[in-house]
Amino acid sequence: MSEIRKEIRREIVAVSCALDGAGLMPNKSGNVSARVPGGFVITPSGVPYREIEPGQLVVIGDDGNVLEGSLRPSSEWRMHAAIYAARAEVAAVVHTHSPRATALSCAGQGIPPFHYMIALAGGAIRCMPYATFGTQELAANTVAGLAGRRAVLLANHGVVAVGASLHAAQAVAIEVENLAAQYLELKAAGLEPAVLSDAELARVIEKFGDYGRIERA
Ligand code: 13P
Ligand code: ZN
Repeated sequence: MSEIRKEIRREIVAVSCALDGAGLMPNKSGNVSARVPGGFVITPSGVPYREIEPGQLVVIGDDGNVLEGSLRPSSEWRMHAAIYAARAEVAAVVHTHSPRATALSCAGQGIPPFHYMIALAGGAIRCMPYATFGTQELAANTVAGLAGRRAVLLANHGVVAVGASLHAAQAVAIEVENLAAQYLELKAAGLEPAVLSDAELARVIEKFGDYGRIERA
């Protein structure tokens, strides 16, 4: 196995464990993948993140066949494959059931652009209609909901975040949960957030382009 691929495997495990430790992947939900030449590397299905060894990750080829790995790939491998096929600039995909964003998704609600950090996701975050986990229908809904964005909510299910690197996708997933928490707090207080204009969002997205902490997706 090449050194680069070994490093990607280690990073996938590290990002998965970090998101799990932060409470974004309750009860071994979610999955994480990264693009490699000819396909992508993805977490196995149903294995607690702290028990996953980098060598147990599954490599899936562009044709959808398993190239490496003896465990079953994530049940959402079709969703990851569809995103890589549709979005050439995406190098990593993070799927979470992070609690507050998932709560919003259960009401079929996305997140309006009320805080400038939503620019990390590329703008207002849509909530796409429910489809059964692991299906091609869910994969198609996810790709549609990600149009022009780096995050989407899936109704009655969770969140998908993408990026040009694993750490960029992780940062988006964390920010989506943070924004959902703020939005729910506002709602609980009976307040409606003031929404930023498209022009202001565009300005922030441009400023993020040369902002040190944030990797472009
Ligand atoms: P896997 O354990 O198969 O990746 O499934 C978790 C999940 O979140 C399904 O949507
Ligand atoms: Zn899920």
